[in-house]
Amino acid sequence: MTLLSPEERHRLDALTRTGLLDSPAEDRFDRITRIACRLFDVPIALVSLVDEDRVWFKSCQGLADRETPRATSFCHYGICQPELFIVEDAMADPRFADGPLVVGAPHIRFYAGAPVHAPDGHCLGTLCLIDRRPRHLNETEQGLLRDLANDVEREIALQQHIDTFRQLKASERRARAVIEGTRVGTWEWNVQTGETVFNERWAEICGYRLAELEPISIQTWLNLAHPDDEPASSEALAAHFRGETGEYDVRCRMRHKEGHWVWVHDRGRVFEWTETGEPLRMYGTHSDITEDMHTAQRLARQNRALAVMNDLVINARGSLDDRMKQALAQGRDFLCLPIAIVSEITEDAYTVLQVRAPSATGIKPGLTLPLAQTYCDLLIDGNDVLAIHHMAHSPHCDHPSYAVQQLESYIAAPLTVRGRLYGTLNFSSPDPRDAPFSDIDITFVRLLARWLSSQIESDVTTRTLAKLAEQAPGILYQYRQWPDGRTAFPYASAGIQAIYGVSPEDVLTDARPVFDRIHPDDLDKVGRSIRKSERTLGLWQHQYRVSKDGGWRWVEGRASPERLPDNSTIWHGYIVDIDEIKRTQLRLQESEEQLRRLFELSPMGIALNDYHSGECLAVNDALLRSSGFRRTEFMKLAFRDLLRERFEALREDALTGLKTAGRFGPFDANVSRADGSAFPARIEGLRIKNATGRALIWTLINDISEQRRAEQMKNEFITTVSHELRTPLTSVAGSLKLLASGVAGALSERAVQLVDIANRNTDQLQMLINDLLDMEKLASGNLSVLLEEHPLQPLVESAVAQLRTYAADRDVSVVLQGSDNPVAHTDALRLTQALNNLLSNAIKYSPEGGTVSVRVAETNGAARISVSDQGPGIAAAFRAHVFEKFAQAAESRRKNLGGTGLGLAITQAIMEQLGGRVWFESEPGHGATFWLEVPVADPAVTPT
Ligand code: ADP
Repeated sequence: MTLLSPEERHRLDALTRTGLLDSPAEDRFDRITRIACRLFDVPIALVSLVDEDRVWFKSCQGLADRETPRATSFCHYGICQPELFIVEDAMADPRFADGPLVVGAPHIRFYAGAPVHAPDGHCLGTLCLIDRRPRHLNETEQGLLRDLANDVEREIALQQHIDTFRQLKASERRARAVIEGTRVGTWEWNVQTGETVFNERWAEICGYRLAELEPISIQTWLNLAHPDDEPASSEALAAHFRGETGEYDVRCRMRHKEGHWVWVHDRGRVFEWTETGEPLRMYGTHSDITEDMHTAQRLARQNRALAVMNDLVINARGSLDDRMKQALAQGRDFLCLPIAIVSEITEDAYTVLQVRAPSATGIKPGLTLPLAQTYCDLLIDGNDVLAIHHMAHSPHCDHPSYAVQQLESYIAAPLTVRGRLYGTLNFSSPDPRDAPFSDIDITFVRLLARWLSSQIESDVTTRTLAKLAEQAPGILYQYRQWPDGRTAFPYASAGIQAIYGVSPEDVLTDARPVFDRIHPDDLDKVGRSIRKSERTLGLWQHQYRVSKDGGWRWVEGRASPERLPDNSTIWHGYIVDIDEIKRTQLRLQESEEQLRRLFELSPMGIALNDYHSGECLAVNDALLRSSGFRRTEFMKLAFRDLLRERFEALREDALTGLKTAGRFGPFDANVSRADGSAFPARIEGLRIKNATGRALIWTLINDISEQRRAEQMKNEFITTVSHELRTPLTSVAGSLKLLASGVAGALSERAVQLVDIANRNTDQLQMLINDLLDMEKLASGNLSVLLEEHPLQPLVESAVAQLRTYAADRDVSVVLQGSDNPVAHTDALRLTQALNNLLSNAIKYSPEGGTVSVRVAETNGAARISVSDQGPGIAAAFRAHVFEKFAQAAESRRKNLGGTGLGLAITQAIMEQLGGRVWFESEPGHGATFWLEVPVADPAVTPT
C-alpha cells in the first residue's frame, strides 16, 4: 500500500466527492471532447480523472479503454503542472520514449493536457489532446485548450451545486416532517418590520385555519394572547434581546376560537441581527400544553388539598369546637366559598354547631332551621357528597330551600358518627361557580367530613368514657414506664384524689407522688410485681396499703400491660379501695388460723366431710393417731368403712338428726383402725355451711378407750368391794334387826334411836351394794333374761301393790289408769325391777298428797307402761344426765331423798337387754312422765 501525502489524500477525497469516478458517460463532457477533437484535429481527446493508481476517463474520444495505469500515464505529469503540460514528440522525450503507451498502442507521439480543478481548487485530472504524430500548439491553440478545460471545470462545479441543493431540499423535507410529526406550531418574525409567518399548526392550536387569520402579523398573536400573560411575555422577550437568556421561553394562554383559553408554550431565538446589533429575525415553536397545564394545575390543587388535610390532622389542637373552626376556615379558603358550616341534624331540625361566614349572613352557632329549608335536606338522602355549582341550573332548583337561602353554589358531605347520621359539613356561596366542582373538590370535602366525623366521634367517646370513669369506683388509669426509669400517669380519672390524695395533673408527667403514698412495707413488693408484669407482659394485680388521713387503707390494683414502639410499657387498669373487705378477710384469716390450730391440735379426732357427697375434706392428727391410717388413706375412706358393724343403724339416726336439728349423736360406737382392730369412740356430728354456701359436716370422733378402761377398772373395783362388803353387811343388818327387836334385851330409848339410825343406813348401804352388783351384772352381761309372753296388766298391778305401803308412808296415792292389757314378749322379773325403779322415783319425788298415775297401752307394735307424777319434774340442765350412773339432780341431793343415782342407769341397761327402751317427758315444775316400752308378743304365736 502506498503511503499517501496529506495533500494527495485531500485531492483524492475531493475527487471522490465529485461522484464522477466510475459514473456513466455524460453528454455534457463528451460534447467538450468531441469539440476538442475537431478543433485541434486530433484522433484522441479525453477528460481524465487521476485516481490513486489509475487514470479513469470520464469522457473519451478515440480510445476503446476507459482507464490506464497512472504510473506510465502522461496525465500523472499533467496534474502536477499549474498550466498546460505539453509533450510535442514523445519519442524525443526520455520520460516517455520507451513508455508502453508510446511503444505500443495507442502509439502516442503528441500529448497536451490542461489541468481540471474541483471548485475547492484540488486538481482532479486533465482535459487532454493526444495524436500519433508530433505536433506543436501555438499560443492561440493553447488558450483554446485552456478555455475548454475551464468548461469541464464549470460542468464539475455545477454538478456539485446541484447535489448540494438536492441535499438541502431533502433535509428541509425531513425537518418539515419532524415538525409536522411533533404537532408543533412554528413562527418566524421579522422584529424590525413586524412581518410574521405562522404554520398551519400554529393556527390550529387556537382552533383556526391559517387562512382565517390572514393578514398575519405580530398583531395576530397579540389579539389572541391572554392580557394577563402579556407583561411576563414582554419581559421574557426583552431579556432575550438584551442577551440575558439564550432563548425566549414563555407559557401563556391564548383564546381559542370557541372562547375558552388554551395554554401554549412558546420558545424562540433571534437568528439574525442587524448590522447595528438590533434583533432582526426570530424563529420559534408554539406548542399546545393545555393538557399538561391542566394536569399540573390538578396536581397542584391535589397537593394543596393534601396539605390542608395534613395540616389539620397534624396540628389539630384544642377543643372540638376549635378543631371544627380550623377545618371550616381551611375548607373555605380551599374551595373559595364564603360560608362554611358544621351542622347537627336531629329529626327534622338543622342546628348550626360551628360556622365561618361573613357576619352579614347572620348565621351563628345555635341557629336552628327546619331541615326542609336547608340544602342539607337534599344531601341526607344521598349519603355522599352533594355538589351544586349553579343551583339555578341544577335539577334541584325547585327545592324549597333555594327560595329561602338563595345560595347558588353548594358542596356538602354528611357527618357520620357511630354509624349514624350526625349532621353535615357544608360550604356555600350566593354566587354560582364558573365550572362544576372538580373531583378533587368533592374528594376534599368527603375527606374533611370523614376527619370531622372521627373527631366528633372520639370526642363523644371520650366524654362518655370520662362520665363512666367518674362513676366507676376507685381510679381508672394508664400508667407508663420508660426504659430510662421515668414513670407517669398519662390518664387518671378524678378518683385518684380519693385514693392517693393527688390530682390527675400532679402525676401527668411524673408518677412519683403516687409511690410516696404507698406503705413502706409494701413499696418493694409493688415495685417487684410491676417489674414482673413489665417483663412477662402479664396482668398486674396487687393489694397494698396507701396512706390516708394519717392511717393506712388497703387498695387493690389490676392492669394489663402493653409494649409501645419506643420500648416503654403502658398499663391500662383500675385501683379500688378494698380496705373493709381486706380487713374482714384478714380477721377471717386470723380466726380461721385459730380454728385450724384448734382442729389440728385438738386431742379429739375431727373429720370434715361434704354433706352431700360424704367426701372427706380434712382430718386432724388426733384422728389419724387413734385410727392408725395415713392421711391420704383416711381421706379416701367412707363412714361405712369406719363404723362397720353399726353403720346402718347409726346412719339412719345421724341423717335424721342432721336434717332436723343440724346435728347428730353423741353415740358410742367402735371405729375401725387401719390394722383391722377397732377402738371405742363417742361420735358427734354438726352440720355447717362454709362461706361459699357449701354444706359440710364436722364429725367429732372422741377415742374413749382410755375412759372405758378406767370405767372398767372402777367397775371391777366396785364389784370386788361390794362382794366383800355384802356378807359382813348382811350379818350387821341381821344383828341390828335382832337388837332392834329386843332379842338382846330392852334397849334404852337413846339406844333404840341409834339402832334405828344404824338400821336405816345399813338398808341404804345394802340397797347401794345390790344396785352396784346388778349394774355390774348388767354391764358384764351376767344378768340372765328369759323372754316370754306376759300380759302386762297383772304385772303392773302386782308392782303397784308391792309399793303401796311405801306410797302410803309418803301420803302419795298410786292410781292405775286404763284397761289395755297388751301381751309383751319380755322377762317379767326384769321388767318389774325396771318398773319398780320408775314407781319408787315417782313416789319419792311426789309432793305430799300427790298422785302417781300408771297407764298401760299398746302403740305402734310396742307396749308402753307410763308412770306420771306431780313432782318437780326434770330440770333442763339435768335432762342429758338422767340416765348416767350416780347422777342425781342437785335438788334431789340437797333434799337428801335417799337413792344411789343408779336406779335409772340400771333401768336403761335392763330395757336395752329386753329389746325395749326407757324415756321420759317432763316440763320442769309440772311433774314428769317416765315410760317403759317393750315389744309386744307376735300375735301369730300368741295363744289366745
Ligand atoms: P336415785 O336413786 O337417786 O333416785 P335414779 O337413777 O333413780 O337415782 O334417779 C336419778 C335422779 O333422777 C334422781 O336423783 C332424781 O334427781 C332424778 N329423778 C328420777 N326420777 C325422777 C322423778 N320422777 N321426778 C324428779 N326427778 C327424778
